[in-house]
Amino acid sequence: MSENIRTVENATCTFCGCVCDDMILTVDMDEHRITKAKNACILGRAWFAEHTPGEGPPAFIDGRPVSVDEAVEEASRVLVEARCPITYGLSDTTCEAQRQAVAITDIVRGNIDTTTSVCHGPSGLAFQGVGESTMTLGEVKNRADLVIYWGGNPAESHPRHFGRYAVTAKGMFTPNGKKDRYVVLVDVRRTPSAPVASLFVQLKPGKDFEVLWALRALVKGRRIDPSIEEETGVSLETLTDLVERMKNCRYGVLFFGMGLTMTRGRHFNSGALLALASDLNEFTHFVAKPVRGHGNVTGADNVVSWQTGYPFGVNFNRGFPRFNPGEFTTVDMLSRGDADAAMIIASDPASNFPKAAIEHMKRIPVISLDTKETETSRLAHVAFRTATYGINTGGTVYRMDDVPITLRPAFESPFPSDLVILTAIRKRVQELAAKAQPTHLAGLAQGTRTQLSV
Ligand code: SF4
Repeated sequence: MSENIRTVENATCTFCGCVCDDMILTVDMDEHRITKAKNACILGRAWFAEHTPGEGPPAFIDGRPVSVDEAVEEASRVLVEARCPITYGLSDTTCEAQRQAVAITDIVRGNIDTTTSVCHGPSGLAFQGVGESTMTLGEVKNRADLVIYWGGNPAESHPRHFGRYAVTAKGMFTPNGKKDRYVVLVDVRRTPSAPVASLFVQLKPGKDFEVLWALRALVKGRRIDPSIEEETGVSLETLTDLVERMKNCRYGVLFFGMGLTMTRGRHFNSGALLALASDLNEFTHFVAKPVRGHGNVTGADNVVSWQTGYPFGVNFNRGFPRFNPGEFTTVDMLSRGDADAAMIIASDPASNFPKAAIEHMKRIPVISLDTKETETSRLAHVAFRTATYGINTGGTVYRMDDVPITLRPAFESPFPSDLVILTAIRKRVQELAAKAQPTHLAGLAQGTRTQLSV
């Protein structure tokens, strides 16, 4: 180790939606490496340890190394000439970069979508349909005496969720941590999170909606037939006890994961859970929150919402934003063959999308921005190599409870940030759109919404 060591206090881990901002990083400034990440969990430690600055060209066109300027020019040309360009990804970059991506999509009358559409998209629909009784994780830490996890396994996906926010964390009105809380885990199988729970409720796969609706009925004093157990795997006695605990707690919280949102029922499941939390406010204070995966997926929802009115799956083809999941979500746009160009930011859909969508990506010009080589960057027409947010760049990210957090970078990268590249593309796209004025871009030179967006 060199002697040129720097310590970065209160740095932020952007690996998962917990966005822990109490990291103490030891940075070897000669080797450009983080040698120690105090307070990080096992996932966070790996995230920091694996990050090295990298080397090689910052951009490629069809696999040929080029300058960033050349790549920006080509990417801008592709986006302006396309009739239905799509933008996708965005959950692992800063809000500032996300804002530029919305503006670009707006100028070229494209389609913008984020990884929310393949994780908590159903919750996004449910929020709009049902509403949200919400909170911050700080409130949970200080006040919650009943914590229910539904369809998630935070012990493995968000290792500090228990200790920092919701289970063993000691707060103002929960000075004894876990001893002051009753913790319930609802899932279809026993996971490594189960040992932390005071009560584990195992339901049959695909029966979340039925159980949630039965709980709502019991909260409202309706009668439920004991045959509910045959249908759902959960006895009436267990449900009745749980409802009593819910109604009589001081501050209850329902955390829900993809085990709820991506199984049979989808947005009906999320909606039922949000409605249950609202119902319980007749008796006590009850809140609900999705446990989000990527470091800034919550920021993506916020930025796309505040600029378009909708959280994901937004289409600008008609010159104004339209929201229609199933039509304007990326898997559908690609699988149907609607998109004729794609800009993918900090995501790798070529490694995990359905085959039809990946096959279509191979037929159209793809622009990729990523910190590393991926399946998507390998098939891209224009590929940018970028700096890592939170480690190399500052900016803003949103924790899963919609609290914005400022990043403190550890060391500089030889590669530009997403923000730098997207700002350059946005400026060039604006110039090209003003010159070209093709039918589908007519009127956009004035940049109606764009001037609001950036
Ligand atoms: S819980 Fe998530 S944000 Fe916190 S240190 Fe672990 S990986 Fe990073």
